[in-house]
Amino acid sequence: MSEVRCLNCLKRFLVPLKTEVMACPYCKTKYRISWPTPNQAKVRGLA
Ligand SMILES: [Zn+2]
Repeated sequence: MSEVRCLNCLKRFLVPLKTEVMACPYCKTKYRISWPTPNQAKVRGLA
């Protein structure tokens, strides 16, 4: 798991490894996730 910050509501949430699309559990905004390293997720943009 890796933690990212939602760009919409600014809360942090966990992303399971290798997930490519994930919705923020708080505001339901969907994001595309990239993995600059195998265990560090990064929000790449809106899905
Ligand atoms: Zn959010």
